[in-house]
Amino acid sequence: MDGLFGAFTFFELPMEIIFATHNQHKLKEVQQLLGQKFNLLSLSDVGITEDIPEDYFTLEENALQKASVVYQQTGKDCFADDTGLEIAALNGQPGVLSARYAGEEKNSEENMQKVLRLLKEVTHREAQFRTVIALIYQGEKYLFEGVVKGEILYEKQGNAGFGYDPIFKPLGFKESFARMDIDFKNKISHRGKATAELVNFLLEKESQ
Ligand code: IMP
Repeated sequence: MDGLFGAFTFFELPMEIIFATHNQHKLKEVQQLLGQKFNLLSLSDVGITEDIPEDYFTLEENALQKASVVYQQTGKDCFADDTGLEIAALNGQPGVLSARYAGEEKNSEENMQKVLRLLKEVTHREAQFRTVIALIYQGEKYLFEGVVKGEILYEKQGNAGFGYDPIFKPLGFKESFARMDIDFKNKISHRGKATAELVNFLLEKESQ
């Protein structure tokens, strides 16, 4: 019988974790960073079809709210993100309102035009993108952050990317996010940095 059991190889099953998003692109990107030890599930994978409200005043509260709703419904490890563009001359706005700065229809072009209009006469154009990830792991809450500093351009530049990419130029670079190769942007971006923090944490926990 030795041969029978000896023939089995015991594989460690990947750990399942839910990313509170419907965005397949984000999901794929994070799955690549996490590697084979983790099996990332989306909201639709676990049967959550509704949009979870993001109506708090901070990125931290919004991310925690989303992760908590998923945890309450599934009882599984999960995480959620929230991102905002914080402009110094506008006292940190649009911040948590970034998606709907010019109205509830979440129109990126109108959001950018609003920012350009408000900053028309402003020479101090410092801004940052900030991503917060809230993780609920084995019932405990953790927060991770990624920031990329830069400035708001006077006019749109490039047409790749999404959101405010054409008017945001990261510090130390000559081009807007919208002129960067997507893989390169993801390496230096707010979301990339916050995700790297999360991934390091999870990989360390799983190796213990
Ligand atoms: P979310 O939390 O990832 O959905 O981001 C909220 C809003 O911030 C988006 O609707 C965009 O307007 C803006 N945003 C987030 N990340 C980026 C980015 O990488 N480039 C440009 N705009 C972004």
